[in-house]
Amino acid sequence: MNPIAFAIPVFLVLIGLEFWVAHSRGVTVYRLKDSLTSINVGIMSEFAKAMGGLISIVMYSLITDRFGSYVWDLSNPMTWVSALILYDFCYYWVHRTGHEINILWASHVVHHSSEEFNLSTALRQSSTGFLFRWIFYIPLALLGYPVKVFVIVGLIDFVYQYWVHTQLIGKLGWLEYVMVTPSNHRVHHGQNDYCIDKNYGGIFSFWDRMFGTYAAERDEESPVYGIRKPLESWNPLWANFHHFLLIWDQVKSAQRWQHKLMYLFGKPSWSPEQNNTVGVFQTATFSRFDTPVSGVLRKISFIGTVSGVALLMVFFFVQSGLSTNARMAYCTVMILALGAIGWIMTRARDHGGTGSAGAQTHA
Ligand SMILES: [Zn+2]
Ligand SMILES: [Zn+2]
Repeated sequence: MNPIAFAIPVFLVLIGLEFWVAHSRGVTVYRLKDSLTSINVGIMSEFAKAMGGLISIVMYSLITDRFGSYVWDLSNPMTWVSALILYDFCYYWVHRTGHEINILWASHVVHHSSEEFNLSTALRQSSTGFLFRWIFYIPLALLGYPVKVFVIVGLIDFVYQYWVHTQLIGKLGWLEYVMVTPSNHRVHHGQNDYCIDKNYGGIFSFWDRMFGTYAAERDEESPVYGIRKPLESWNPLWANFHHFLLIWDQVKSAQRWQHKLMYLFGKPSWSPEQNNTVGVFQTATFSRFDTPVSGVLRKISFIGTVSGVALLMVFFFVQSGLSTNARMAYCTVMILALGAIGWIMTRARDHGGTGSAGAQTHA
C-alpha cells in the first residue's frame, strides 16, 4: 500500500487544526477556493505518479543494482542518518535547479502558485516532477544505498516539509540555523525582492548557509506569497502546464538558437531585453487573485474535492488488483475531473467576475 494513504488523513486533520487555531486567534490564513485548489493539485499529482509506473524506483534500482557495489548495514543507524543527510543535500539541488532553470521551474512552479501560505499549500505538488527528479538522487544509488533506504528517507524528507507550511509558528531560535522551519520556508514562498531564490533546503537549512542562498524572515517586511507571474486560475491542470506552454511559445518565437536555449535552460527571469532582471516587487499594489464563485458553486467544488480525496483513498486500496488499462483509465478520469472542477471555479471570473487578477504589474 502507498504510504501516502496513511499520511492523507493526518494531513487533513492538521489542516482542520490549523484552521481552528487561526480562527480562535482571529486571523485568516485560509481561503476556500485556494485551499480546494491546493488539495486538488495534490490529488492530481498522486494520480499522475500512479500513471508514471514508479519510474523513480525502477530507475534507481537499475542503477544501484548495476553500479552500487558497497553493501550497507541496515541495522546501523548511521546508514539511515547518512542516507537522509545525503538525500537532503540532493534535494537542495533538485529544489535549487527547480527555481533557477526555466524548464525545471515549469514543473516546480505549481508548488508556489498559491498566494496563501498554510498547510494546504504543502499539498500543491507537481504532477510532472516525478519524471526527472530521480536523476538528482543518482549519487545515493551509486553509493549503493538500497532502494528501500532511498524510498524511506525520501518519505521522511517529504513528510517533514509538511509542517513548515504555516504562518502560526514564529521564529524558532537556534533551530533556524540548522533546520528548515516555518519562518525560513515562509521566505522561500515569498515574492518580495529579499525572498527570491532563497531557502531551498528540505529538512536542513545549513545547505543554504553553505551555498549562500539563506535569507532570514524580516519582521519589518512579511513575505507576500505567490509568484511574480501570477497563475490567475483555480485549475490544477493549468497550474501544472501553464509555464510549459509559455516556454513553448517563447522557444517557438525566438529567432536565435542561443535564445531558444536560454528560454529552456536559463533563469526563469531571462529575456533577451532584460537578461536576468527580476524587477522590483511592489508590496503596496499587490492584490490576490480571486473569483466571485457563487454559494452553490462553492458547495459543488467542496463536494468535488472531498470526493476526489475519497476516490484517491479508494484507488490506493484497490490499485494492486487493477489491470494496467483499468488503472490508467481510473487515473485519467480523475485527472480530467479535477481539471473540470478547477475550470468551473475559474470560469466564474469570465462571466462578470470582479477578480483582482490583473492587479499585478510585475513581469
Ligand atoms: Zn520551491
Ligand atoms: Zn513549500
